[in-house]
Amino acid sequence: MTMSAITRFAPSPTGYLHLGHAYAALFAANAAQKDGGRFLLRIEDIDQGRCRPEFETAIFEDLAWLGLDWEHPVRRQSDHLPEYQDALSRLTDAGLTYPCFCTRKDIETEIKAAGGAPHGPDGPIYPGICRHLDENERKDRIAAGEAYAVRLDMAIAMRAAGPLTWTDLDAGTIDAAPARFGDVVLARKDTPTSYHLSVTLDDHIQGVSLVTRGRDLFEATDVHRLLQALLGLDIPHYHHHALLQGEDGKRFAKRDSSLTIASLRENGATPDDVRAMIRRYLPDGAH
Ligand code: GLU
Repeated sequence: MTMSAITRFAPSPTGYLHLGHAYAALFAANAAQKDGGRFLLRIEDIDQGRCRPEFETAIFEDLAWLGLDWEHPVRRQSDHLPEYQDALSRLTDAGLTYPCFCTRKDIETEIKAAGGAPHGPDGPIYPGICRHLDENERKDRIAAGEAYAVRLDMAIAMRAAGPLTWTDLDAGTIDAAPARFGDVVLARKDTPTSYHLSVTLDDHIQGVSLVTRGRDLFEATDVHRLLQALLGLDIPHYHHHALLQGEDGKRFAKRDSSLTIASLRENGATPDDVRAMIRRYLPDGAH
Protein backbone atom coordinates (compact mmCIF):
# COMPACT_ATOMS: atom_id res chain seq x y z
CA MET A 1 0.00 0.00 0.00
CA THR A 2 1.25 3.43 -0.76
CA MET A 3 -0.79 5.44 1.74
CA SER A 4 0.00 5.45 5.45
CA ALA A 5 -2.22 2.92 7.12
CA ILE A 6 -4.60 3.69 9.95
CA THR A 7 -4.89 0.51 12.00
CA ARG A 8 -6.65 -0.41 15.21
CA PHE A 9 -6.70 -2.95 18.00
CA ALA A 10 -10.28 -3.56 19.17
CA PRO A 11 -10.46 -5.72 22.28
CA SER A 12 -13.56 -6.48 24.33
CA PRO A 13 -13.10 -5.89 28.07
CA THR A 14 -14.59 -9.26 29.03
CA GLY A 15 -11.39 -10.62 30.57
CA TYR A 16 -7.68 -9.94 30.92
CA LEU A 17 -5.64 -9.66 27.73
CA HIS A 18 -3.65 -12.78 26.98
CA LEU A 19 -0.71 -13.51 24.74
CA GLY A 20 -2.92 -13.76 21.64
CA HIS A 21 -4.25 -10.26 22.28
CA ALA A 22 -0.72 -8.94 22.74
CA TYR A 23 0.18 -10.37 19.35
CA ALA A 24 -2.90 -8.80 17.72
CA ALA A 25 -2.13 -5.41 19.30
CA LEU A 26 1.55 -5.50 18.30
CA PHE A 27 0.61 -6.64 14.79
CA ALA A 28 -1.74 -3.67 14.33
CA ALA A 29 0.70 -1.19 15.86
CA ASN A 30 3.59 -2.47 13.70
CA ALA A 31 1.49 -2.29 10.55
CA ALA A 32 0.82 1.39 11.28
CA GLN A 33 4.37 2.17 12.34
CA LYS A 34 5.94 0.57 9.25
CA ASP A 35 4.82 3.35 6.97
CA GLY A 36 4.30 6.24 9.32
CA GLY A 37 0.62 5.53 9.83
CA ARG A 38 -1.61 5.84 12.89
CA PHE A 39 -2.58 3.26 15.50
CA LEU A 40 -5.94 3.42 17.26
CA LEU A 41 -7.39 1.54 20.19
CA ARG A 42 -11.11 0.82 20.40
CA ILE A 43 -12.98 -0.67 23.33
CA GLU A 44 -15.66 -3.06 22.07
CA ASP A 45 -17.97 -3.14 25.06
CA ILE A 46 -21.47 -3.53 23.61
CA ASP A 47 -21.94 -6.73 25.60
CA GLN A 48 -22.59 -4.89 28.85
CA GLY A 49 -23.42 -8.12 30.68
CA ARG A 50 -19.90 -9.46 30.18
CA CYS A 51 -17.77 -6.29 30.11
CA ARG A 52 -16.17 -4.95 33.30
CA PRO A 53 -14.48 -1.59 33.95
CA GLU A 54 -11.53 -3.32 35.63
CA PHE A 55 -10.82 -5.24 32.43
CA GLU A 56 -10.88 -1.99 30.45
CA THR A 57 -8.39 -0.45 32.89
CA ALA A 58 -6.22 -3.55 32.56
CA ILE A 59 -6.23 -3.21 28.75
CA PHE A 60 -4.72 0.28 29.02
CA GLU A 61 -2.15 -0.87 31.59
CA ASP A 62 -1.12 -3.97 29.66
CA LEU A 63 -0.74 -2.18 26.34
CA ALA A 64 1.24 0.69 27.86
CA TRP A 65 3.49 -1.82 29.63
CA LEU A 66 4.09 -3.53 26.27
CA GLY A 67 5.33 -0.16 25.01
CA LEU A 68 2.38 0.69 22.80
CA ASP A 69 1.12 4.16 22.21
CA TRP A 70 -2.29 4.97 20.77
CA GLU A 71 -4.31 8.01 19.87
CA HIS A 72 -6.74 9.70 22.21
CA PRO A 73 -9.60 9.83 22.81
CA VAL A 74 -10.17 6.09 22.71
CA ARG A 75 -13.49 5.18 21.12
CA ARG A 76 -15.68 3.16 23.45
CA GLN A 77 -18.60 1.51 21.65
CA SER A 78 -21.06 1.89 24.52
CA ASP A 79 -20.70 5.68 24.14
CA HIS A 80 -21.97 5.54 20.56
CA LEU A 81 -25.15 3.46 20.61
CA PRO A 82 -27.22 6.14 18.79
CA GLU A 83 -24.82 5.95 15.82
CA TYR A 84 -25.40 2.21 15.47
CA GLN A 85 -29.13 2.71 15.86
CA ASP A 86 -29.08 5.29 13.10
CA ALA A 87 -27.29 2.90 10.72
CA LEU A 88 -29.74 0.16 11.66
CA SER A 89 -32.69 2.44 10.89
CA ARG A 90 -31.27 3.12 7.46
CA LEU A 91 -31.16 -0.61 6.74
CA THR A 92 -34.65 -1.08 8.14
CA ASP A 93 -36.03 1.84 6.10
CA ALA A 94 -34.55 0.19 3.00
CA GLY A 95 -36.53 -2.97 3.77
CA LEU A 96 -33.45 -5.05 4.52
CA THR A 97 -34.19 -6.14 8.10
CA TYR A 98 -36.91 -7.79 10.14
CA PRO A 99 -37.65 -8.18 13.84
CA CYS A 100 -36.95 -11.65 15.24
CA PHE A 101 -38.77 -12.66 18.41
CA CYS A 102 -37.23 -16.13 18.65
CA THR A 103 -35.64 -17.41 21.80
CA ARG A 104 -32.66 -19.73 21.58
CA LYS A 105 -35.07 -22.53 22.42
CA ASP A 106 -37.45 -21.62 19.56
CA ILE A 107 -34.56 -21.81 17.13
CA GLU A 108 -33.31 -25.14 18.49
CA THR A 109 -36.79 -26.65 18.36
CA GLU A 110 -37.33 -25.51 14.79
CA ILE A 111 -33.96 -26.88 13.66
CA LYS A 112 -34.66 -30.21 15.36
CA ALA A 113 -38.10 -30.45 13.74
CA ALA A 114 -36.55 -29.72 10.34
CA GLY A 115 -33.99 -32.48 10.91
CA GLY A 116 -31.04 -30.06 11.11
CA ALA A 117 -29.81 -26.81 9.60
CA PRO A 118 -26.81 -25.90 7.45
CA HIS A 119 -23.83 -24.79 9.53
CA GLY A 120 -22.29 -21.39 8.95
CA PRO A 121 -19.02 -20.05 10.40
CA ASP A 122 -20.88 -19.09 13.60
CA GLY A 123 -22.93 -22.29 13.98
CA PRO A 124 -26.29 -23.40 12.61
CA ILE A 125 -27.92 -20.90 10.27
CA TYR A 126 -31.08 -19.23 11.56
CA PRO A 127 -34.00 -21.15 10.03
CA GLY A 128 -35.97 -18.02 9.14
CA ILE A 129 -38.91 -18.46 11.52
CA CYS A 130 -39.65 -14.71 11.80
CA ARG A 131 -38.64 -13.77 8.24
CA HIS A 132 -42.14 -13.98 6.82
CA LEU A 133 -44.28 -12.92 9.76
CA ASP A 134 -47.26 -10.83 8.87
CA GLU A 135 -46.65 -7.09 9.29
CA ASN A 136 -49.62 -6.79 11.68
CA GLU A 137 -48.35 -9.61 13.85
CA ARG A 138 -44.97 -7.90 14.06
CA LYS A 139 -46.59 -4.64 15.10
CA ASP A 140 -48.80 -6.32 17.69
CA ARG A 141 -45.95 -8.26 19.26
CA ILE A 142 -43.71 -5.19 19.42
CA ALA A 143 -46.58 -3.13 20.88
CA ALA A 144 -47.14 -5.86 23.48
CA GLY A 145 -43.56 -5.38 24.60
CA GLU A 146 -42.15 -8.66 23.34
CA ALA A 147 -38.36 -8.53 23.10
CA TYR A 148 -36.89 -8.83 19.63
CA ALA A 149 -33.61 -8.87 17.80
CA VAL A 150 -33.19 -7.28 14.38
CA ARG A 151 -31.91 -9.54 11.61
CA LEU A 152 -30.59 -8.73 8.16
CA ASP A 153 -32.63 -10.39 5.42
CA MET A 154 -29.56 -11.87 3.76
CA ALA A 155 -31.17 -12.81 0.43
CA ILE A 156 -32.68 -9.36 -0.11
CA ALA A 157 -29.53 -7.62 1.10
CA MET A 158 -27.31 -9.61 -1.27
CA ARG A 159 -29.60 -8.88 -4.20
CA ALA A 160 -29.47 -5.18 -3.32
CA ALA A 161 -25.68 -5.15 -3.07
CA GLY A 162 -24.73 -7.41 -5.99
CA PRO A 163 -21.44 -9.36 -6.10
CA LEU A 164 -18.76 -8.05 -3.73
CA THR A 165 -15.05 -8.57 -3.22
CA TRP A 166 -12.55 -7.45 -0.60
CA THR A 167 -8.77 -7.55 -0.28
CA ASP A 168 -6.67 -9.39 2.27
CA LEU A 169 -2.97 -8.50 2.17
CA ASP A 170 -2.03 -12.20 2.48
CA ALA A 171 -4.88 -13.97 0.73
CA GLY A 172 -5.51 -11.51 -2.11
CA THR A 173 -8.91 -10.72 -3.62
CA ILE A 174 -11.74 -12.55 -1.88
CA ASP A 175 -15.22 -13.06 -3.31
CA ALA A 176 -17.57 -12.26 -0.46
CA ALA A 177 -20.00 -15.07 0.39
CA PRO A 178 -21.96 -13.70 3.35
CA ALA A 179 -24.93 -15.99 2.64
CA ARG A 180 -23.25 -18.76 4.60
CA PHE A 181 -23.98 -16.77 7.78
CA GLY A 182 -27.71 -16.63 7.04
CA ASP A 183 -29.82 -13.77 8.40
CA VAL A 184 -27.25 -12.31 10.82
CA VAL A 185 -28.32 -10.40 13.92
CA LEU A 186 -27.72 -6.65 13.59
CA ALA A 187 -29.22 -5.68 16.94
CA ARG A 188 -29.60 -8.09 19.82
CA LYS A 189 -32.50 -8.27 22.21
CA ASP A 190 -30.35 -6.90 25.03
CA THR A 191 -28.17 -4.50 23.01
CA PRO A 192 -29.29 -2.17 20.23
CA THR A 193 -26.40 -3.28 17.98
CA SER A 194 -24.23 -6.30 17.26
CA TYR A 195 -20.59 -7.12 16.67
CA HIS A 196 -21.00 -7.04 12.87
CA LEU A 197 -22.78 -3.70 12.74
CA SER A 198 -20.69 -1.80 15.27
CA VAL A 199 -17.30 -3.03 14.07
CA THR A 200 -18.08 -2.17 10.45
CA LEU A 201 -19.45 1.25 11.24
CA ASP A 202 -16.64 2.10 13.65
CA ASP A 203 -13.90 1.21 11.18
CA HIS A 204 -15.53 3.63 8.72
CA ILE A 205 -16.12 6.41 11.26
CA GLN A 206 -12.56 6.15 12.57
CA GLY A 207 -11.08 6.11 9.06
CA VAL A 208 -9.39 2.74 9.60
CA SER A 209 -7.73 1.88 6.29
CA LEU A 210 -6.18 -1.46 7.26
CA VAL A 211 -8.13 -3.80 9.51
CA THR A 212 -5.79 -6.33 11.09
CA ARG A 213 -7.26 -9.14 13.14
CA GLY A 214 -7.06 -12.90 13.64
CA ARG A 215 -7.91 -15.50 11.01
CA ASP A 216 -10.86 -16.57 13.15
CA LEU A 217 -12.66 -13.48 11.81
CA PHE A 218 -11.75 -14.02 8.14
CA GLU A 219 -15.23 -15.19 7.10
CA ALA A 220 -16.95 -12.45 9.11
CA THR A 221 -15.36 -9.92 6.75
CA ASP A 222 -17.82 -11.10 4.06
CA VAL A 223 -20.66 -9.81 6.24
CA HIS A 224 -18.80 -6.56 6.95
CA ARG A 225 -18.21 -6.04 3.23
CA LEU A 226 -21.94 -6.46 2.62
CA LEU A 227 -22.79 -3.91 5.33
CA GLN A 228 -20.27 -1.48 3.80
CA ALA A 229 -22.06 -1.79 0.46
CA LEU A 230 -25.53 -1.35 1.99
CA LEU A 231 -24.55 1.63 4.14
CA GLY A 232 -22.20 3.31 1.64
CA LEU A 233 -19.14 2.99 3.90
CA ASP A 234 -15.44 3.12 2.99
CA ILE A 235 -13.80 -0.23 2.26
CA PRO A 236 -10.56 -0.81 4.15
CA HIS A 237 -7.93 -3.38 3.28
CA TYR A 238 -7.71 -6.38 5.58
CA HIS A 239 -4.86 -8.43 6.96
CA HIS A 240 -5.99 -11.48 8.89
CA HIS A 241 -3.09 -12.83 10.92
CA ALA A 242 -2.31 -16.28 12.28
CA LEU A 243 -3.58 -17.29 15.71
CA LEU A 244 -1.13 -18.33 18.40
CA GLN A 245 -1.10 -22.02 19.18
CA GLY A 246 -0.46 -23.81 22.44
CA GLU A 247 1.92 -26.77 22.67
CA ASP A 248 -1.02 -29.02 21.80
CA GLY A 249 -1.61 -27.19 18.50
CA LYS A 250 -4.89 -25.68 19.77
CA ARG A 251 -5.39 -21.94 19.70
CA PHE A 252 -5.06 -19.88 22.85
CA ALA A 253 -8.24 -18.82 24.53
CA LYS A 254 -9.14 -16.53 27.39
CA ARG A 255 -9.37 -19.52 29.70
CA ASP A 256 -5.58 -19.98 29.51
CA SER A 257 -5.29 -17.59 32.41
CA SER A 258 -1.64 -18.37 33.09
CA LEU A 259 -0.87 -16.57 29.87
CA THR A 260 -2.58 -13.27 30.64
CA ILE A 261 -0.28 -10.30 30.19
CA ALA A 262 -1.05 -9.24 33.76
CA SER A 263 0.02 -12.57 35.25
CA LEU A 264 3.14 -12.80 33.08
CA ARG A 265 4.09 -9.31 34.25
CA GLU A 266 3.43 -10.14 37.89
CA ASN A 267 5.62 -13.20 37.51
CA GLY A 268 8.54 -11.06 36.39
CA ALA A 269 8.33 -11.30 32.60
CA THR A 270 9.53 -8.30 30.59
CA PRO A 271 7.88 -6.98 27.42
CA ASP A 272 10.73 -8.58 25.47
CA ASP A 273 9.95 -11.93 27.12
CA VAL A 274 6.36 -11.53 25.96
CA ARG A 275 7.53 -10.83 22.41
CA ALA A 276 9.75 -13.93 22.52
CA MET A 277 6.87 -16.05 23.80
CA ILE A 278 4.68 -14.80 20.98
CA ARG A 279 7.30 -15.86 18.43
CA ARG A 280 7.47 -19.29 20.06
CA TYR A 281 3.71 -19.80 19.89
CA LEU A 282 3.25 -18.54 16.34
CA PRO A 283 2.64 -21.29 13.80
CA ASP A 284 5.54 -21.89 11.39
CA GLY A 285 5.83 -19.27 8.70
CA ALA A 286 3.76 -16.61 10.53
CA HIS A 287 5.34 -13.35 11.52
N1 GLU B 1 -13.64 -7.13 19.50
C1 GLU B 1 -13.29 -8.29 18.73
C2 GLU B 1 -12.62 -9.32 19.62
O1 GLU B 1 -12.22 -8.98 20.73
C3 GLU B 1 -12.35 -7.97 17.59
C4 GLU B 1 -13.02 -7.23 16.53
C5 GLU B 1 -12.26 -7.07 15.26
O2 GLU B 1 -11.03 -6.98 15.27
O3 GLU B 1 -12.90 -6.98 14.23
O4 GLU B 1 -12.51 -10.45 19.22
